[in-house]
Amino acid sequence: MTEDRHQAPLPSPEDALTRLKMGNLRFVLGEARFPTVPREVLADLAKGQQPFATILACSDSRVPPELVFDAGFGELFVVRVAGNVLGSAVAGTLQYATVHLRTPLFVVMGHQGCGAVKAALAAKFEGALHCERIELLLEGILPSLDDVDATLPAAALLDAAVEANVRRTVRQLRASPEGRAELASGAMKLVGAVYDLDTGRVRFLE
Ligand SMILES: [Zn+2]
Repeated sequence: MTEDRHQAPLPSPEDALTRLKMGNLRFVLGEARFPTVPREVLADLAKGQQPFATILACSDSRVPPELVFDAGFGELFVVRVAGNVLGSAVAGTLQYATVHLRTPLFVVMGHQGCGAVKAALAAKFEGALHCERIELLLEGILPSLDDVDATLPAAALLDAAVEANVRRTVRQLRASPEGRAELASGAMKLVGAVYDLDTGRVRFLE
């Protein structure tokens, strides 16, 4: 989720769909703009997946996990939702990753300038109102803002809120039955992280 600003005029819906279709065609023809995989690898991956990490990240277009971590097809199991909040569908997806895929690493990754966290801050401290289903989404973020210092300057407040939101989701996952069992056995590691938009660097939280 990002702020309501963009540099160029948005394409029409039809043009946007055409762009996706053309992109997929370039991919299929082996002419992708970004590093991709040969057809044989795709065929091999069709037999099954064994990703080495599960990532819960924000939907923000500037934070694509596979590109940020230079990971290929079949390597990351990714859940993306605005504000990287832990709703029931997300929790189910993560449970699937734990029980069936058994990925050894789980990362909850927030990011600098997160629009969802910013909206939650505005709702909490400025009484801002949002659309109904966005409000529902923000409910997943609000509890993490209880301990942030509201007197911080805006940018520092947002940074603190982003990190608090990541840390709360990590705590929630640690407290789940699978989380407790897997972490106790040492078979799985769970870490929080924050992606820096300016530099592209991921800072892992201790
Ligand atoms: Zn975001």
